Order: sequence, then C-alpha cells, then structure tokens
Amino acid sequence: MENMSTASDVLAPRYPLARASGDCASNWDASKKRRVNPEDQPGQGGAGPGTLSLRPYQSLAVQNLRRALAGGIVREMLCSPTGSGKTEIGMALVRGARSKGKRVVFLCNRVHLVEQTARRFKKAGIDHGVIQGENTTRVYESVLVGSIQTIARRGMPAVDLIIIDEAHTVAGSKEYRAVIAAAKGIPVIGLSATPYARGLGKHYDELGGPLFEHMTVAATIPDLIEAGYLVDCDVYAPSEPDMTGIKQARNAFGDIDYTDTDVGRAANKPELVGDIVTHWLRLARGTPTVCFAANIAHSKHIVERFHVAGVSAEHIDCYTDEEERRAILARVETGETMVISNVGILAEGWDFPACRTLILARPTRSLIRYIQMAGRVLRPHASKERALILDHSGSVTRLGFPTEEFPLELDDGTPRDAKGGQEKRETPLPKACPSCSYVKTVHKCPVCGFEPERRANVDVRAGDLVQVAKKSKAPKMEKQDFYSQLLRVASSKNYKPGWVANKYREYFGVWPHGMEDVIAHEVSPQVSGFLMHLQIRNAKAKGDKHAGA
Ligand SMILES: [Zn+2]
Repeated sequence: MENMSTASDVLAPRYPLARASGDCASNWDASKKRRVNPEDQPGQGGAGPGTLSLRPYQSLAVQNLRRALAGGIVREMLCSPTGSGKTEIGMALVRGARSKGKRVVFLCNRVHLVEQTARRFKKAGIDHGVIQGENTTRVYESVLVGSIQTIARRGMPAVDLIIIDEAHTVAGSKEYRAVIAAAKGIPVIGLSATPYARGLGKHYDELGGPLFEHMTVAATIPDLIEAGYLVDCDVYAPSEPDMTGIKQARNAFGDIDYTDTDVGRAANKPELVGDIVTHWLRLARGTPTVCFAANIAHSKHIVERFHVAGVSAEHIDCYTDEEERRAILARVETGETMVISNVGILAEGWDFPACRTLILARPTRSLIRYIQMAGRVLRPHASKERALILDHSGSVTRLGFPTEEFPLELDDGTPRDAKGGQEKRETPLPKACPSCSYVKTVHKCPVCGFEPERRANVDVRAGDLVQVAKKSKAPKMEKQDFYSQLLRVASSKNYKPGWVANKYREYFGVWPHGMEDVIAHEVSPQVSGFLMHLQIRNAKAKGDKHAGA
C-alpha cells in the first residue's frame, strides 16, 4: 500500500501546524503543558477495565474488515448495533494498525464523543493524542482522536487509516465528505449502530465511487438478543398523537421526519401528557425509565405531571450545565430519580444498562432516531429480563419493533418515493391490542387473550360502510359517551374486557383510542338498541350457518 507510514513519519508527524489561522498555534505548544485533558475527567463508568479479548462476532468483524480493505475496498462501513461493542471493535482496529507502525485517526462529530473516546482509549491502555479545538494535545502520537470540525478546519494529519465513529452522520455532512475526498486513497472505516442514513452508499464524482463502497455487519439486533448480549422488549402503545398536518422535512440523517418545530404541536397536549403518566403507573411503576419528548416544553410538562403523581422525575437538555447534568444522571443511576426525560441528548452515548422502561413520546419517522432511542433500554442488566417500551408516538406501529432486523444494505440515494414512499416490509407491521394496548403481530393478544373479531366474517352491506366511515369521524365527546355506556353494560353483565372494544368498533369502524375508562350512569335507548340489533344480526348469521351446514 502506498500510504504506509515509515518510522520517521511516526516520530516526526507531517501535520501542518501553521495551517489554521492564529487561534490554534498556541494550542499546539500546549501539548507539552497538557491543558484540559479529557482523560483526566472522571469516567461515566460502564466501560469496564480495558481488555483485549473480543467476542467471537467482534473478532470476525475485524477479520472481515481487514479482508475488505486488503481486497481493494477503500471506504468500508461497519454495522454494529448499540450494545454490540462497536468501540471495542474500533479499538481492535486501532491496535492492529498501531502494531504495524501505522498512524490512525479516530474521528468523532461531537466534543463529548471525542472526550468519551479518549477516556475509553486511556482505560484500554491506548496512548493517543487529541485534535479538538483548544483541547488539542500530543499530536505526535501514532493514534489520534479527532473532532471532524477541527480537522475540517486545520486539515487532516498524515495517517494511514481513518476510522469514523457515528458514521451514519457522514452522508449529511459536507465536512466529512470534504475530508474524505481530500484524503484520497487512505482507507476509511465507518462505524455505526444505525447505518440507515440516506446516501451512505451514494456515488460521488469527487470520490470516484460510492461514499461507502461496502458494508460489514458485525451482528444484528436479533442476533445479539439470541446470544444474550441484548434483551428483548415488550411494547405497549396506549395512545398516539394525531399527526395530520404536521410538517415533515429531511433531518440530519437525510430521513424524512416530522420537523422539530412542528412535532411538539401534535404531542404536547394535556390529555396526551396525562396519558403517559397514567400508563406508566399501570405498567411500569417503579422501573428506571427514560423518556424522549417532542421538545423541551413537552419534556418539562411530562416531568411536572410525574411530580403531581408523586414520582421522582427530572428533565435534562443541552442547556443543562455540565455539573448539573452529571448530578442528574448520578441521581438516575442511584434510583433517586425514577424518570429522566429529554428530547434527544440521551439518544447517543448514554449508557445505563439498568434502565428498563422507555417512554416514546416523540413521534418520528426516522429509523435512525427510533433505533437510537430504543437502544437505551435493550442492554442486559441483572435487574431486568426484558425491556419495556411505552409508545405514545405511533412509532412502533409505524416503523416496526426496534428489535427487528433492519435493512442490511447501504442506501444509494435513489428516490424512495418512486417505490411507493415506504420501504417494503416482509412482515406485517405490529398492531396494538385494542383491549390492553400490548403491541403484537399475532391476531390473539398474548397478554390479555383478546381476539378482535375478524372483519371479513362480518356481513357488511355497502350502506353500512358509508355509515361506519362517517361515524369514525364522530366528535370525541360522542365517542367517549358511547364508550362509557358500553363500559356500564360490560360491568353490569360481567363481560370480558375485549367486549367493549369490539362493540365500539362495530359502531364507529375504528378501535377506541384515547378513551377514558369512565363508566356511564345509565345506558341510552340508542346504545341498547344498537346492541339489540347486533344480537339479532348475530343470531340470524348463526342460524343461516346452521341451516346451510
Ligand atoms: Zn391485549
């Protein structure tokens, strides 16, 4: 390979010290003084002592990556889900390169990820320098941890291998593309738990080929659950906001998603916020919980409602100062704070395996955002056998279970709309049980046993269909009134819980959603008449069947 380092490269880096203007010059000298060294900050735990032993699939991934590069691939993506030890694989690559006397740069796109990586490297005994604004230090090391923003400004140091963390962000980043184009011919390995961003495999003229040419899959989420490295999850979807008219646009990953400014409008409603707390008390009381909200105001509302219910909850965002943030997360880890709510800051890099419950209150259409949020509760821990997801965002029934196998191909950037807008799925999307809101793909609910009546078995004439369509748009008050009366009938006659949902759907053509479990004092002639009508119809249908048999 042409880009191999010689020993003199390693000892005397060719890094262009005077490239950037003014501000950084003094910082290069600072390498001797050791200014703010991220390694000196207390670790956030969880990483464990540095170890050389890799899990079998991790070793295999390292081998496959090396083979791909040896076979002429220059830009390679590694797909390695949350909890699979992506950083361990990255560190194995770094060690391998270093042992051959090569120089490696490990790029991150956020300051805190630079710091976190430096800490992990130190724990694992990997000597390294840092290139990140004024924290830049020891640039002579053969292993460098760098911020893409700083490197885009100052230029790429002389290296033989570029490793990019959170590499799904590369597609949407001009800085990354420019740096990769300038580093022509130097092997690039992207690491990502969610390599689903649009255009990761798109052809660029300046690169003379696809952004990433090939992908190695270390393991999939179902693989990891099977092997016990992740836990499976139960999902309940008790309510979801009405997303009609909510604006959508491309997010930083190139996914079409609800816009941040507009999504709060749909989600931040008192009845929806109240519903979140009610269902948490019903299904998740006393479990360590992380909540993702639509925006800061929404997150704070949720926290307030938890307080009203006597549950310890705290909010965190990018404006929370560092010391406060640490204190909050420490309280979450000790259990003093039961529910931690945020918008997105905990979606990446926050590691608290004991966290069992996830409240999804931020509607999204982005697979990346979704998988990142879900990843927070899938890590195994002695205190839990399964994770619990309370979906108040419609995400699970929109995107599927977060524990499914997701696309294993890089997106080449061709419009998806041409294929009908949606990825085609091999399995049907899961649905929430109308009776207990457990999300499932099977017909009969495994939790409460409720079995929705199959519509195809019901004899519906064209006129009825029109009627149903109209009724489904009935005002909420009318629906609640009807629902409450059905509850009255069910309780007086001791019917099973599913009975109400079935009768409700017979009438309105939709399952009851967002109804309060308030029992009516009496049953109107209209409702009893309707139930009578159903009884007669069903008896008749049965009679016909017997007659025909
Ligand atoms: Zn059920």
